[in-house]
Order: sequence, then structure tokens, then C-alpha cells
Amino acid sequence: MNLEEAAGRNDLFETPKALYVHIPFCYSRCGYCDFHSFALGRCEGGQQSGNEFAESYVATLLHRARELKARLPEPLQTLYIGGGTPTILPDKAFSELLGQLAFLFGSSLKEWTVEANPESLSRQKLSVMADAGVSRLSIGIQSMDDGELETLGRRARRRDNEKALDLAQRSEMQVSADLIAGIPGQSPETLESSVRAILDTCVDHVSLYDLSIEKETELEKKILQGVLKLPAEDSAYSARKHGERILKAAGYQRYEVSNFSPAGRESLHNSVYWSMNSYVGIGSGAVSSLMVKENADPTLLLDIDLGSSEGSAARAAGAVGSLVRTAGGATGDAAGAPACLRMEEGRDLKAYLASPDACLTSAWIDRKDSAFELVMMGLRTRQGVDRQRFARRFGSDLYPLIATVLGKWKDRFIQDDEYLRLDDAGLDLLNPLLLDILEVL
Ligand code: SF4
Repeated sequence: MNLEEAAGRNDLFETPKALYVHIPFCYSRCGYCDFHSFALGRCEGGQQSGNEFAESYVATLLHRARELKARLPEPLQTLYIGGGTPTILPDKAFSELLGQLAFLFGSSLKEWTVEANPESLSRQKLSVMADAGVSRLSIGIQSMDDGELETLGRRARRRDNEKALDLAQRSEMQVSADLIAGIPGQSPETLESSVRAILDTCVDHVSLYDLSIEKETELEKKILQGVLKLPAEDSAYSARKHGERILKAAGYQRYEVSNFSPAGRESLHNSVYWSMNSYVGIGSGAVSSLMVKENADPTLLLDIDLGSSEGSAARAAGAVGSLVRTAGGATGDAAGAPACLRMEEGRDLKAYLASPDACLTSAWIDRKDSAFELVMMGLRTRQGVDRQRFARRFGSDLYPLIATVLGKWKDRFIQDDEYLRLDDAGLDLLNPLLLDILEVL
């Protein structure tokens, strides 16, 4: 079963209303990044120039988008073009991509976000976005300190960031800025200065991420060699909390572990991920997640052929077998039954361009893993885990299942009839708390 067939099966899966489009190109690789992206100049195929390669990629994306549109049972509500760096696409390809996506999906969208990097955000790109109906721009600022930007291996410097924020603020779009905490050499003062500089531009939304040291990145290498030193854990934590207090005082509420905004400016698209609703992703490396309907006929899942995806056939067979046994009443253990279909578009760019369907990999997520994912994603947010949804999906009230964890962390949990959520200190302790939940769920 390919992606558009699966997305169209509204007898089996909850209808996706969010689409992610991945652009896996950047000018160069930042030192801390392990995202799926390539320096555009290095991924040319045959005699093609970087621009021609990007145009072929966009043509493939648009072909997939049209096929998807033809099968989707309901109109999309959110669209997110991320990367990589979508704004480094050549103007012609960028314009073609946005114009066609607007034609296909624009009329029903409640939110359309495009990611941008400061050095590639031009008046021309902003004008294309405005014409297409893009409503939200997410800019990778990361820091307003030139030394920290250099440490991260970013191309942009403070003046580029300022220029991009200034340009963005002149548009009608909502603007979100990403910042990073815990950078080697960062002090509470430099983080405060970055947060205040962002707030001075009146952005609508801020994402404040903790730096994560990914394997085999330039940054990891430098830290292992002792060339760079991470800030002590305590001082990184207090710098981050200080930054959060400044955001809060300015009216930006922490509505997710790393995301802050005034009420009504939260990211609708990301909320789809956090609430574990169905979504689709196109473009090399993009992931789709289709939740099995609560009342889906289990025997129909037997007919699904996930193709030759490595490992997925065995997982699917096991999961479906378990579901059928459960449906037949032979066992009360439904933990292994499928609850979600996860698909990933191929990461090998040339193979992807030749045949996206041939390099799609698919796997079932069983009920046990899916239950944990629902709790894990929900607890990231200020709203919390939807208790009724959990009970409908998994046939059991969440509270008794994790009673020991609720008792152990009782000062951090806020429980009511509808949602289970964490207080602010609990959001900071999410990882140890989730490990406890994983043990009992
Ligand atoms: S611009 Fe973003 S996606 Fe590209 S290398 Fe840097 S961090 Fe990674």
C-alpha cells in the first residue's frame, strides 16, 4: 500500500488533515545538525546544476501532492513546508512549489507555515509566500550572539538575523523564531540578550530548544576533542529558566516543553503531532502517521500489503495476527495489535526522484507503543493527555494504568476528568517521568 492509498482509506485510518512537505537542501551543514538535509551544491545528479536538481525535486513533490489530493477524503487544515531550508530553493522552483500547493490545498487551510533561514529570506521569497497565502513564517535564528552562531556553524550572523526579522515583520505573516539554549560559551547574559532582541521585534511565537549533541556532527567532534566545552548543567538550566521568565513576563506562555506564545498564536500544525492525530508527509525523509480508526474492521487490516519494507512485513504480520486473535476472543491481550501505520519517504535522493513509491518504508506501531506515544506527546503540552481519547483508543482509563507513577510524581501532575498534564517543573522533568511511565504502561 502506498501513501496516497493509505491516506484515502477512511474506513481504516483517521483522516489526515495536516501535510508536511520536506525540502532537504541547505547551503551548508551546520555543526550541530543531524536533520535529513544536504548541501544543495553537493547533491547534483549527472549533468544537472543545483538549480535543475532542485527543480526536479519540486516536480516530484508536486506529482506526489497531486496524487495525495486526489485520494484525501477531507480537505487539509494545516500545511508545513520544512527542511532543510525551503527558502534556498531557486526563485522559480520556490514559486512553482508554493503556487501549486496553494492551488491544490490553499482554500481550506487554517494555517500554512514555511521555515526560513535568515540568509535566504529575501523580499522576493516573502512576496511569493504572501501571494500563495502562507500565514506563518518560522525563522531559524538560534542566537543573536556572533560567537555562539559561529560555534553552531551557522552561516548567518546577528546582522543577518536582524535583517530577516525586520523583513518578516513587514509582511502580514505571523512570525516564529527559534532559539537554542545550552550552546558552548553561552552565558545567562548572552541568552537573555538573544531573547530580548527577539522580543523587541514583536515576534508572535518563540521556540527555545535545548542544544542536543548529535552523533557524528562537527559539534560533537569538537566537544570530544576538548575544543569546545558545554556549559555546566546547572548554569545551562538556570540560564534557560531565566530566558523562560523573560518570555513569560512578555506574555509568552509555555504551551509545550520548548514552545512559547501569547494565547491564540500556538502552532496548529505541531499540535497535530502532539495530539497524535493522523498526518501525511511528502518529500525525501518525510514521515506520515495514520492512526487506525477506533472502530476499524480488524479483518481488513489483513489485506494490507506493506510491500517489501525492511522489517515491516514481519512486524505487520505479528501485529495483525495479534489483532485477529483479540477480535476472535482467543486472547484478551491486545498490546501487539496495530494502532498506527507509520510511513517514511526514501532518504536516498536519486532513488527518491526515480521512484518515490519504491523507496517508501512502512511499519505498524502496535497498541502498546502507540499508547505510550499518546501519553509522551500529550505530556509535552500544557493541555496534556486527553483522557477520554486514551480510553476510547485503548479501552482502559489511563489513571489506574499509571497509578504508581501518578503517586510518585503527585506534586508534578495536574489531574482532572478530561486531561492529565504537568506543571512547569514537571515539564522540566519530562524524561525521567516518561521512563517511569514506560515501565508500567
Ligand atoms: S540550516 Fe537547519 S537543516 Fe540546514 S544544516 Fe543548518 S540546522 Fe540543519
